[in-house]
Amino acid sequence: MTTTSVGKMIYRLQEGGATMVNLLGGKGAHASEMARIGISVPPGFVITTETSLEYFRLGHQFPSGLWDEIVRHVSILEEQTGRKFGDPKAPLVISVRSGAPVSMPGMMDTILNMGVVDSTVQGVAEMMGDERPALDAYRRLIQGFGNVVLGIEKHRFEELLEITKNKLGVEFDYQLQPDALKGLISEFKDVIKEDTGSELSQDPWELLKAAVDAVFDSWNNPRAITYRDFQGISHDVGTACVIMAMVFGNLGDDSGTGVLFSRSPATGQKMLYGEFLPNAQGEDVVAGIRTPHRIESLKDTWPKIFEEIEQTARLLEQHYKDVQDIEFTVERGKLYILQTRAAKRTAPAAVRIGVELVHEGVISKEQALGRIEASEVSAVLMPHFDPTAKQASMKSGDLFAVGVGGSPGAASGIAVMDPDRAVLKAESGEKVILVRHETNPDDVHGIIKASGVLTSRGGMTSHAAVVTRGLGKPCVVGCEELHFEQDGMSATSRGKLIKEGDLISIDGASGEVFLGLIDTVAPLSEDLEELNELLSWADSARRLKVWANADTPEDASLARANGAEGIGLCRTEHMFFAEERLPHIQKLLAIGPEASQLIDHAKSIEHLLQDAPASERHALQKKLKIANEEIDNSEAVINFHQELSKLESFQTGDFYGIFKAMAGLPVVIRLLDAPLHEFLPSYESLLHQVSDLQRRLEGEGKASAWVERGRDLLNEAASELMKVPSGEKIVDWLSEHADHVDVLSEEKLHRLLDEKEEMLELVEKLHESNPMLGHRGCRVGLTMPEIYEMQVRAIVTAACRLKEEGLDVSPEIMIPIVSHVNELKWLRPRLREMASRTRDALGVKVSYLFGTMIEVPRAALTAGEIALEAEFFSFGSNDLTQMTFAFSRDDAESKFLNHYVDTDVLPKNPFNSLDVSGVGKLMSMATYEARQVNPDFTIGICGEHGGDPLSIAFCNELGLNYVSASPFRVPVARLAAAQSSLGLIKS
Ligand code: PEP
Ligand code: MG
Repeated sequence: MTTTSVGKMIYRLQEGGATMVNLLGGKGAHASEMARIGISVPPGFVITTETSLEYFRLGHQFPSGLWDEIVRHVSILEEQTGRKFGDPKAPLVISVRSGAPVSMPGMMDTILNMGVVDSTVQGVAEMMGDERPALDAYRRLIQGFGNVVLGIEKHRFEELLEITKNKLGVEFDYQLQPDALKGLISEFKDVIKEDTGSELSQDPWELLKAAVDAVFDSWNNPRAITYRDFQGISHDVGTACVIMAMVFGNLGDDSGTGVLFSRSPATGQKMLYGEFLPNAQGEDVVAGIRTPHRIESLKDTWPKIFEEIEQTARLLEQHYKDVQDIEFTVERGKLYILQTRAAKRTAPAAVRIGVELVHEGVISKEQALGRIEASEVSAVLMPHFDPTAKQASMKSGDLFAVGVGGSPGAASGIAVMDPDRAVLKAESGEKVILVRHETNPDDVHGIIKASGVLTSRGGMTSHAAVVTRGLGKPCVVGCEELHFEQDGMSATSRGKLIKEGDLISIDGASGEVFLGLIDTVAPLSEDLEELNELLSWADSARRLKVWANADTPEDASLARANGAEGIGLCRTEHMFFAEERLPHIQKLLAIGPEASQLIDHAKSIEHLLQDAPASERHALQKKLKIANEEIDNSEAVINFHQELSKLESFQTGDFYGIFKAMAGLPVVIRLLDAPLHEFLPSYESLLHQVSDLQRRLEGEGKASAWVERGRDLLNEAASELMKVPSGEKIVDWLSEHADHVDVLSEEKLHRLLDEKEEMLELVEKLHESNPMLGHRGCRVGLTMPEIYEMQVRAIVTAACRLKEEGLDVSPEIMIPIVSHVNELKWLRPRLREMASRTRDALGVKVSYLFGTMIEVPRAALTAGEIALEAEFFSFGSNDLTQMTFAFSRDDAESKFLNHYVDTDVLPKNPFNSLDVSGVGKLMSMATYEARQVNPDFTIGICGEHGGDPLSIAFCNELGLNYVSASPFRVPVARLAAAQSSLGLIKS
């Protein structure tokens, strides 16, 4: 045995095992394991991943001793097979495959049929008992070697192959007869000579060495690097190289090759799920060139082999305690397993498989909880087509084609027939469906950016299906009705045409393809039985509670249905955005400061009067009288109260609905927070409108400006009308009569201008340079306390109403953007007083809590003081991240943050996954201080991080009471919290 600084460089299959994935790669380790447990695997050996790393360190040179070791192991293969490498009479033919520790399907290279050269091809033919497959193997070797090792573009060979097939009028490669293959072999050799300047070497050992070099180097090819970047796989682990004796599936009708899953990777159903191509090599299945037969068809044609395959699949599943993805070849009636690995599966399949393996006693509940990535759970809740919309599409004849459902989910987007263009379109904000004959690893960048994929060829195990399932995107494959036009930019099916840029919709579960856009909806609860069972196990395993962020009764109900145990954040500003409410909040903001100041002035005199000495009382009373008169006569105050009372009645209804939906579970209502400009139109658009109106009313072209404006309005009206029944008829009439329609009167234009100017003035008044750091949250509460008081009244009134109806309510009132304890000291007593006054007036007993968000670094730093003034904390990790990094939430992502992540300046986007060492440190200080004040102090988190598994793990480790996530991510949070409790994930 030769060793170098990397130790043992080669392992025979019998020497390895499943635990050696890091050293032997997935393929090598599992081939070894199979050999060890007595499954029929072709003999072979594995060059370790460490050897590839050493090869890179040495500047792409074999480490010393490697070549001798390879030669020695080939000679062991020779003994095992009774054949000799390069021997003209009984040649050994081998495959040289890449195999990383983490599966990277199709991203790296493999060279098959090594050992076939001019001098051995006849010997191979004799071994095969047929000249055709031997010549075909040689043709494939030259093609593969030419492309992978010598870097000659694939199409050079493919074009020659197509020309030959067309000339002979055959459809498939395997129909080419020896003469044609000989011709092709010679043409392929010419391509190599032309491209490299030298003849293809006829020394099989030289070819073998070059093939090993190429397999190592394929670790660093651009598509492998892109894939690793996307999947977050380390670039430093290297690849193993697996060398095995070849078995041939193309030796006639008793041979074939296939790929199967021991359960459906799409749904998880227990059945053999896969495809088989008779008389073919493995690459024919994966390439999707011929559409394979479903594996069940073997039951009739080869019942014994089918039974053997089924037994082997079950044995492997039992052995690995997981669903397997198995590649096999049948050579003249003998079954060989070439590869097995844990099957990639869709999220719904992962859930079903996990639950059923527990029911079958194969794994424990805890193991099942560890089998599903928490973030995948939201894919189970993935949208599918709204059945009514889909039916309507069917009815109107928009079903364009039907293929095979390759990866579930539904998506609509514009059809794009090229991966580069797909990337461009997707990056410009369009939703894209990538439409191809078939995909291959060179298309991965386009697949990653697309919302879905449609291919005309291939089956469930084709490249497109495998990759999209891994990415959780919908995909339809084998859509043979689809015929591409010559231009490559359009395709037809059922007599209809789609051009690049046309909207299409694909259903990755049923395989249907529609013209146009179809709305999507969330799945039905009966589709979620297994998920619910799994989540019930998660609920028993977790300590952390899971609440939801919800602003409407509908969201609250959805959150509860998904298992939320409370509402951790109800953003009240969202309630003001509705069309009928916005004018009221705008008016409130316009008159609020003046009105609030007058009210405040009177209150402060009242306050002084309470403790004033007799000598000052008279003067103060006089002052108060004047102040009160001012209030009574102030239009601003009158309007302010009117607007407040309108908003109060809206708010009372809002809170009533949410409390009712939550049936006594805690509901945290956050008082108004958003920066005030969010309630107003943009300054630029207003300015534009004002100057436009001024132009129309003044100076030259006044009349024509009116006409112009009139036409604009007509156009606006027309587009609205098109949305209603019979609208089209009215639009037709209008366009006929447009010339006679009277346009806006001057008076109306003046009124419009006044309104716009008033709004512009308000926008200018409220303008802030840094609104996120400006007049928002409790700062509004302090300057216009009447707004928070109104909200508190609405909360308590709604709670009392429900209580009277016999329902439970647990309101928790949360004050945002607190940075200094004095803000709470000022606000909390006032709001408490308002709450108790409201409650007493209604004569109902309800209890409520007052708490605060910790979202400003200063609040986190002084959490001990703040905890004395609050009954609970909730980390607003969005703002806490924004303010800790000083990264604007609105701009950072588009301007530089993605670049930071791409260039590894930051490991991940801190707005998606908590920055544990920075923001997390503030959280842990604040938690510590609050729990010093009261060990049972309730603390949650309500920023976006509440739905991110690793951030959830951190919150669990920190001892928070709950995380609050959007309703769709509640199941994710339930599972992640359990995984954290079981130590399956760590922050
Ligand atoms: C937060 O800052 O984390 C938070 C929940 O508040 P918002 O996102 O509404 O600012
Ligand atoms: Mg916030």
